[in-house]
Amino acid sequence: MKLLLVEDDESIGEGLRLGLQGAGWRVLWVTHASAAQAALAAHEFDGVLLDLGLPDRDGLELLAALDNGSRPRPPVLILSARAHTRDKVAGLNGGADDYLTKPFDFDELLARLHALQRRAAGRPQPVLRFGALAIDPLRREVRLGGHAIDLTPREFDLLHVLAQRPGVVRSLDWLHDRLYDDHDVPASNAVQVHLHHLRRKLGAAWIENIRGVGYRFRPDGTAP
Ligand code: CA
Repeated sequence: MKLLLVEDDESIGEGLRLGLQGAGWRVLWVTHASAAQAALAAHEFDGVLLDLGLPDRDGLELLAALDNGSRPRPPVLILSARAHTRDKVAGLNGGADDYLTKPFDFDELLARLHALQRRAAGRPQPVLRFGALAIDPLRREVRLGGHAIDLTPREFDLLHVLAQRPGVVRSLDWLHDRLYDDHDVPASNAVQVHLHHLRRKLGAAWIENIRGVGYRFRPDGTAP
């Protein structure tokens, strides 16, 4: 899952980036509203962590501008030192999906991020279930017929992003963008290699290759 972190405080930003990456998120960290807008125009994100006091613009202004973008708007969690009720009301009414005040507990932030993902995907349960297959994004575990499947972090991420939207075909470029940050320099066929291993471990019927187009998750796990 890919997050845009908008935070101009260097120590908070660096701490969040490291913590979130350790928890399995891909993080693009920017310090200005203008950079956040450019990133949102260039990439699809699963969520935005938004500070309000930014050097070039207020976070609330950025929030208002999000709805004018061409991409589907990712869920937004405001992370701000502004703790007054009127600030929270302004943020939530301004389009944020959640609001957490600084200082915050990292575990609470993670739990809220996962809750946002569930809400965005329209499913209340923390574990994604498709017949015999269970995907647990919090524990980053996959079980098939009750047996744990041993996946690498990239393989898990691939399965998770595909299973978030069953039946939707994702191109290799789209998957690459979801899996890697700008500073990662993977081999050009890295996504295909991970897909190959994932399909071998899980059973190829779960992830269908649409030749020349991309891949899609088949929620029934049966061959077409
Ligand atoms: Ca700030």
